[in-house]
Amino acid sequence: MPVGTEGVSINSDTANETLLSLSGVEVTINTISGPVHPLQGVDLDVFPGETVGLVGESGSGKSMTLRSILRLMPPGGAITGGAVKWLGNSVLNLDADELQSYRGSQVAMIYQNPVSALDPMLSVERQIVDAFKANRENSDGVAEEYARDVLRDLEFGNPDVILKRYPHQLSGGMAQRVNIALALACGPSLILADEPTTGLDMTTQIRVLDLLERQVSARNAALLFISHDLRAVSRVARNIGIMYAGQVVEFGPRERILTNPSHPYARALLECMNLRTGERPRSIPGLVPQMTEEYNLCAFRNRCSSRMAVCDEQPLPVHNLGERHRLLCHLGPGHD
Ligand code: SF4
Repeated sequence: MPVGTEGVSINSDTANETLLSLSGVEVTINTISGPVHPLQGVDLDVFPGETVGLVGESGSGKSMTLRSILRLMPPGGAITGGAVKWLGNSVLNLDADELQSYRGSQVAMIYQNPVSALDPMLSVERQIVDAFKANRENSDGVAEEYARDVLRDLEFGNPDVILKRYPHQLSGGMAQRVNIALALACGPSLILADEPTTGLDMTTQIRVLDLLERQVSARNAALLFISHDLRAVSRVARNIGIMYAGQVVEFGPRERILTNPSHPYARALLECMNLRTGERPRSIPGLVPQMTEEYNLCAFRNRCSSRMAVCDEQPLPVHNLGERHRLLCHLGPGHD
């Protein structure tokens, strides 16, 4: 049994309760050239133990969504609308102590650049031991034993050697496995992964993704994974959200999103990835909109081949299509 599985308890009373809920989340960043609106009404639910992926182009709001969950705003940034709830309680109302505890022991984060995410001055052992003691049990002996075991779970053949190393002595793939170990050491109920395999070669990417999925699942934790790469997301996520211009424009079970998406952007993304034909990925014609504007109408309409008159006149309707499949588009379900 992987170490740390005792840290998360999901019983029949809590398994159906929403772990994390974002509704209508808006973020505004005040810059010297004016306000920027990277999130314009994000809706997203994550349930205990499930894996959710968010896909979108650069600038679609994926990373800012993760930041809003942790209330980690960039300079000049603020959550200006909507609600972020953890087990039904507002994250926006947490005081400093509650926020610190929430960020470590409830929700942990794996960052995009694995080597720079680690402290260059501390050995792998010191970093895992400190994370474990800060969030789980304040005993050096237990923490050191845990550090060895969690590295074994992450397929390090000789954990004692790795524990003595410093970040600059690790390859990118090794450093990302250490980051996963650090996130697991906190015993969280939810792990946020921000493009965790960017920059790794394909074989290492697959290995890291499979390990991440397996170890998170073995601990009954939930995973919210973001990436621009639909292939990577579909490898680990049971439910997939498609992000565009600061909104989740379609969300649903992996099979539906991959085989029969309803939103024109989701369809274009799928076609460009050429997942079925295996050809080289293409780009979607047109440009991602500037987030200096607030969109009352569909932000994809300048790139959409299905655009209708109503798209230029009416705000986006929300269609709930069952099985948590949700769509923001005037086309509605069932179109060709
Ligand atoms: Fe296209 Fe209209 Fe749907 Fe926007 S709302 S994606 S313009 S069909």
